[in-house]
Amino acid sequence: MNVEEALRSLLIGLSTSGAMNRWAKKYGLRFGASRFVAGESIDAAISVIRELASKGIAATLDHLGEFVSDEAEARESAKVCVDTIHAIRDAGSDATLSVKLTQLGLDIRRDLCMENMQMILEAAKDANVGVNIDMEDFARCQETLDIYRSLRRDFPFLQTVIQAYLYRSFDDVSALAAEGASIRIVKGAYKEPPEVAYPAKSDVDANYIKLLETHLLSPGLTSIATHDERIIDHAKAFIRRHAVPKSAYEFQMLYGIRTDLQQAIVDEGYPLRVYVPYGDDWYGYFMRRLAERPANVAFVLKGIVH
Ligand SMILES: Cc1cc2nc3c(=O)[nH]c(=O)nc-3n(C[C@H](O)[C@H](O)[C@H](O)COP(=O)(O)OP(=O)(O)OC[C@H]3O[C@@H](n4cnc5c(N)ncnc54)[C@H](O)[C@@H]3O)c2cc1C
Repeated sequence: MNVEEALRSLLIGLSTSGAMNRWAKKYGLRFGASRFVAGESIDAAISVIRELASKGIAATLDHLGEFVSDEAEARESAKVCVDTIHAIRDAGSDATLSVKLTQLGLDIRRDLCMENMQMILEAAKDANVGVNIDMEDFARCQETLDIYRSLRRDFPFLQTVIQAYLYRSFDDVSALAAEGASIRIVKGAYKEPPEVAYPAKSDVDANYIKLLETHLLSPGLTSIATHDERIIDHAKAFIRRHAVPKSAYEFQMLYGIRTDLQQAIVDEGYPLRVYVPYGDDWYGYFMRRLAERPANVAFVLKGIVH
């Protein structure tokens, strides 16, 4: 293992530390986390989506939180999701909402999570706001897809995520494409063992392209969520070659990452949606962003020293 891989592993390991998370919630956005997180309040998030809209960029809002083990907290998170939907509607925005099932009680009881999702999706349907179920670690992948499929029967606008690093994803994408489901394709942000995920980045990238080409030709929306210019260029060429209509795909990127590339994509006339996280539960999300690019740690250290 080289130094970068060791640092990546350490940062992903630290991302699930309960003690660090409690500390982070108490002391607020620190260490340059505001580079990746829109702010702690809904108002801060709404002003970010307005700013993005002025540049021709759509958004998906994520009220940060995950791996909740307390029922009251899961119910409170669901309420904040509903408030977020109402704030999007009141702002007259075309933003969507992204949620994590462990934030809504998946690890406590499946029926609690379903109840919370039902409440969120009813509000979303009334407000005409799209919802996406983010994909978490492999241990929760099958259950997330099961829940997605069961909710999609009543809420066909629901989208979910497929991670290119998992061996199982080609089968999942093929099945979801046949069902007409809308999906976001990502590389995958968790630490998974070689028994379930490609260890080599080159294999993940090759699988991403395979998944992309499979889903782009299906009826559901394909959200191409990556900052990888090689994959983005490949997608653009494929879209041109197959005359894929604009209504069938969008590019997606994370708030604060490759803003130059975000603007370039929009300037070329492609649809782009940016994932905008907000809230006080920023620690796990921030650590995963550092792990993706350990060079980001230098920014953190600079922030501490200054
Ligand atoms: C909209 C969106 C939603 C996502 N939802 C999920 C989800 O539900 N589940 C999940 O597991 N993962 C999710 N991810 C994260 C994803 O799995 C990857 O971890 C992340 O996108 C980095 O991979 P990449 O595709 O950009 O490619 P990489 O090969 O990692 O990066 C390509 C280039 O992008 C830039 N870059 C990438 N990450 C960073 C960073 N943190 N800081 C600075 N520059 C960076 C660098 O220039 C890098 O060379 C999401 C990503 C996006 C864009």
